[in-house]
Amino acid sequence: NAKKAGKNRFCVFDDEMDQMLLRRLELEKDMRGALERKEFYIVYQPKWNALTEKAVGFESLMRWPHPKFGDVSPSEFIPIAEETGLIIPMTRWVFSEVGKLLQQWMEKGVPLLPVSINVSVRLFESRQLIEMTRTLLESANLSPHVIELEITESMMLYDVKDMIRQLSELRSLGVRISMDDFGSGYSSLGTLDQIPIDTIKIDQLFIRESDSPAKRAIVGAIIEMALNLQLDLVAEGVETVEQIDFLRSSGCNVMQGYYYGKPMDVSEMDNWIARNMDERLTEDSRL
Ligand code: C2E
Ligand code: MG
Ligand code: MG
Ligand code: MG
Repeated sequence: NAKKAGKNRFCVFDDEMDQMLLRRLELEKDMRGALERKEFYIVYQPKWNALTEKAVGFESLMRWPHPKFGDVSPSEFIPIAEETGLIIPMTRWVFSEVGKLLQQWMEKGVPLLPVSINVSVRLFESRQLIEMTRTLLESANLSPHVIELEITESMMLYDVKDMIRQLSELRSLGVRISMDDFGSGYSSLGTLDQIPIDTIKIDQLFIRESDSPAKRAIVGAIIEMALNLQLDLVAEGVETVEQIDFLRSSGCNVMQGYYYGKPMDVSEMDNWIARNMDERLTEDSRL
C-alpha cells in the first residue's frame, strides 16, 4: 500500500514536472515569434525623490500577455530568453521603444526624465550593448544622461575585468549605470569600489522585511556604504509609510515601489506625468 501511495505521489509529481516542462517548451517556442507579432509591451515605473518630492526617472519593464497562458511574468520569461539568446533581440526592441518614448516626450515638450533599461549579462557577452547604446543615443539625438542601464551583481561572475571595461566605455558615453537588486545576489563587496556604477538599488527583499531589526541593520549598512562610496541610492519595492520613514531617517530618499507608482503603460504614464507635472517636478529635471 505504502508502495502504491508512493508510486501515486510520484506520478502526480511527475505530471507536474511534465506540465512545467511543457509550459517552458511552449513559452520558448512562442517567444521566438512574439517580437514580430508585437506581443510584448513595456510598462514604466517611476522613481521618486521623497525629499524634493520630484519624480527622478522611470524604469522600463517588459510585459508579455501570452495568447494562451495570459500574462507571463518577466521573472519567468526573461530567464528563458537569456538561455535561448532571444534576450538580445528583445533588449534591442526595448532600446528602440525607449528611444521612441523619449523622442515623443521631446516633441510634446515634456521635460525629459531618465529612463532605465534592465540588461542581462548576455548583452555584455554578445558585445552588442555598446553599439546598441550608441545607436539609441544617436538615433534619437538624446542627451546620454536620460539613459540608465540596470545590471546585477551576479554579472560580475561572468568576467569582472571585461565587465569593468565595458561598463567604463558605456559610462564614457555618458549613460548611467545602476546595480539592481543589490544585496541579494553574489555580493562583490570587495570589488564594489572598482566597478564603475553610479547607483545602488537596494533589493526589495530588505525593504519588505524592514520591520525586522536585522534587515534594518543591513539596509542601514548598505546606505552608509553607498554614501561613503558617493553612489546614489534607490530603494526598491517601497509599499508603506513605515518603510518610507525608515528609509528617509537612514539617509535614502529615492524610492521606487507601489506606494509611489505601479508600473504603467505609456498612456497611463502620460496621465501620471500630467498629474505630477508641477513646478517642483519640472524645476531641475530638464537635462
Ligand atoms: P527588477 O529590475 O528588479 O524590477 C523590479 C520588479 O519589482 C518589477 O517586477 C516590478 O514590477 C516589481 N515591483 C516594483 N515595485 C514593487 C512593490 O512595491 N512591490 C512589489 N511586490 N513589487 C514591486 P517585474 O516587472 O515582474 O520584473 C521582474 C524582473 O524581470 C525585473 O526585476 C528584471 O530583473 C526582469 N525584467 C523585466 N523587464 C526586463 C527587461 O526588459 N530586460 C531584462 N533583462 N530583464 C527584465
Ligand atoms: Mg531593474
Ligand atoms: Mg530590482
Ligand atoms: Mg529583480
